[in-house]
Amino acid sequence: MKSWSARPVPELPGTAPTPSVYDSRQQRMVQLPAGSEVGLYVCGITPYDATHMGHAATYVSFDLLHRAWDDAAQHVTYVQNVTDVDDPLLERAEATGVDWRDLAEEQTELFRTDMSALNVIPPAHYVGATESVEWIVPAVEGLIERGLAYRVPGGVDEDGAAQPAGDVYFDVNAAAELKETDPDAWVVGDVCGLTREEMLPLFAERGGDPEREGKHDVLDPLLWRVNRPGEPAWDGASLGAGRPGWHIECSLISLKYLPTPFTVQGGGSDLAFPHHDMGAGHSYALSGKPMAEHFVHTSMVGLEGEKMSKSKGNLVLVSKLREQGVDPAAIRLAILANHYRTDWFWTDDLLADAKRRLASWREAAAKPETAGAEDLLKAVRAALADDLNAPAALIGVDAWAARNKGGAAARGANASAEDRQLAVDLIESRLGVVL
Ligand SMILES: [Zn+2]
Repeated sequence: MKSWSARPVPELPGTAPTPSVYDSRQQRMVQLPAGSEVGLYVCGITPYDATHMGHAATYVSFDLLHRAWDDAAQHVTYVQNVTDVDDPLLERAEATGVDWRDLAEEQTELFRTDMSALNVIPPAHYVGATESVEWIVPAVEGLIERGLAYRVPGGVDEDGAAQPAGDVYFDVNAAAELKETDPDAWVVGDVCGLTREEMLPLFAERGGDPEREGKHDVLDPLLWRVNRPGEPAWDGASLGAGRPGWHIECSLISLKYLPTPFTVQGGGSDLAFPHHDMGAGHSYALSGKPMAEHFVHTSMVGLEGEKMSKSKGNLVLVSKLREQGVDPAAIRLAILANHYRTDWFWTDDLLADAKRRLASWREAAAKPETAGAEDLLKAVRAALADDLNAPAALIGVDAWAARNKGGAAARGANASAEDRQLAVDLIESRLGVVL
């Protein structure tokens, strides 16, 4: 699928340290590997209601990691999916009377435009769920053959609606038996660290169907949904026509484009369970190896003290802010003023502060000569290497701007045009903010 474009990343002198991040599976800080090749998979959007501030914060956060790796002379293979067929998309299309393909295409294009505006480095592989069906079908057939997946009989669901026979589910208990021969094997809860009692309500809330009759375990996730009248369907070979479940899409796309395990699986914290947990289960079952070395999750974003949600109708959309004339660099700075692991709220004050900060930085960068960029380079590299501490990096740039936007006396005798260029390149290269 077509990706998007961002500005080329300016080269900086020297090499940054390899970053450390918080691995939410291991529940501790980890030093990421220093090898030259690293792989990053960040779960993409389901293309409706794109791009709300929670999405934007997630992709900007992982963009910081991408840039940190670039600056540490590591080559990043970045993969992202777009869930361009799934229940929420189909429900929205039906509710609004548009073709689901048109909705997916229009919202994916909006997302690409927002990502370009926010200067997020694009993935090397941007892959639609609809493009991964051809890999999913044989993978699911193989899981059935090995007893790790099964078909459920037809019946009625909790609403009394008839369900056809043949939907395929992943057997979490059969998969757990692989642990008997391999201590690295996945068991449900492996990624999220939650108890079964904690997982049950989240599974129901986040796309699972615990009530479905015929399942071996209520937590078993859907792998293949056989065709219903009026729903899109693909050739499923022995599975029958249908469409894939959500988690298996990311497993197959990452197995296709990245080594196993790859370095970092990322996404919003609401993806830890069931999505990343089940995806890791599918990947282990298919490859015999853990899906990723590390799992990194970003915080949730609310609006003025409230949870931001589709149902509340209070989503802050990047495209709407852009339409109102807000500089995307200010949106990016507002996001970066919050640490990726701390839940935060979008507020008018936050945006006003970001606009002031951007103006201050631009005022300093407009001087023909500045001073202090070498020290700033060290400070920003140190802050971002330490769990992508963007708020600390921003405070460092604030100090540089405060010193340089004043008169020549404040800048000092050692001000130079080279210093100014280094500071501008640093801010763009590491923070993605274009002055
Ligand atoms: Zn995913």
